[in-house]
Amino acid sequence: MKRILVTGGAGFIGSHLCERLLSDGHEVLCLDNYFTGSKKNIVHLMDNPWFEPVRHDVTMPFYSEVDEIFNLACPASPVFYQYNPIKTVKTSVMGAINMLGLAKRKNAKILQASTSEVYGDPKVHPQVENYWGYVNPVGDRSCYDEGKRCAETLFMDYHKQNKVRIKIARIFNTYGPRMQPDDGRVVSNFIVQALKGEDITIHGDGSQTRCFLYISDLVESLVRTMNTPDEVTGPVNIGKPEEVSILSLAEKIISITGSDSKIIFRPVRIDDPVKRRPDITLAGEVLGGWEPAVDLKNGLEKTIGYFKKEINI
Ligand code: NAD
Ligand code: UDP
Ligand code: UDP
Repeated sequence: MKRILVTGGAGFIGSHLCERLLSDGHEVLCLDNYFTGSKKNIVHLMDNPWFEPVRHDVTMPFYSEVDEIFNLACPASPVFYQYNPIKTVKTSVMGAINMLGLAKRKNAKILQASTSEVYGDPKVHPQVENYWGYVNPVGDRSCYDEGKRCAETLFMDYHKQNKVRIKIARIFNTYGPRMQPDDGRVVSNFIVQALKGEDITIHGDGSQTRCFLYISDLVESLVRTMNTPDEVTGPVNIGKPEEVSILSLAEKIISITGSDSKIIFRPVRIDDPVKRRPDITLAGEVLGGWEPAVDLKNGLEKTIGYFKKEINI
């Protein structure tokens, strides 16, 4: 049994990860400031004596005894990370420093939840790990993109300078139950709009693409990444290479829900990446043949089932 710290543990991904680690027989410390996460996501775990929620902000130092750290704390939806961009940078950068300091003191292994956003609006397609990206340093998305890029730098430098055992996972768009209905990301927005019969809001003409990974596939990959040999530091792309346009995502969700919602077009978001697709060759090699198992239709159906209950439809 290991004692594992999950920062951002009350969030969408974090809560699923805490659940998995507990079921694998570990003790889990779930650290969160509840900015975009919710106690509701973890309330079902509270009876488990091996689960320990801690209300804490990663921008402040945190002293504890841990064997492994999954560093997930950071708002992930553009709506929320742009709400207080300075705080977003602090969370990524100071959060990384504090968690790396803790990992160094305890000789703990530490995994960073990085993002496909480090590639910005990519000029190389699909994105491979050795592509450095195309990122605006002073735009609306910069607090997130550059914060996460700096966190990667810190991880690599703590590894080189202090021999901290690190793992960097570059996560591409992930969806599933426990996204907040008002989270603002595309899958939850479209599902909630479709279920309520409201207009489906596409930013731009909907030709921009993303690749959507279901939460259970992500959790499996994160656990495997943490368990790779020490020489595997990443960065490693984690995503599902099936590329879909935002327009076709809207049509799929309308079709699955049987909604009579109409699609409407809004102004394109500033610096919105035009296309995105992971090259997951490296993940396949270092994560024991890992590949996404849940197809988009199936994952959307499960997520729609969750939101039906969540918003009482
Ligand atoms: P989320 O917003 O649901 O979860 C983030 C969690 O971090 C929330 O519980 C929030 O309250 C907490 N948090 C935020 N700032 C904090 C702070 N200063 N101190 C302590 N806790 C704080 O988002 P998510 O989708 O679960 O994302 C989790 C992580 O994965 C994030 O780091 C995100 O950047 C990364 N990621 C997610 C995706 C995705 O598609 N979901 C893609 C790439 C990377
Ligand atoms: N830190 C922490 N928990 C620990 C050890 C360190 O939160 O168990 C924080 C502390 O704020 C420190 C930062 O991590 O400033 C970086 O630690 P490091 O040892 O790298 O540097 P230093 O202590 O010299 O600042
Ligand atoms: N998007 C959209 N309507 C919405 C929310 C998002 O058209 O209500 C688009 C957004 O402009 C982007 C894509 O969907 O092109 C994915 O957006 P999201 O905020 O989910 O994540 P991103 O990958 O941009 O960080």
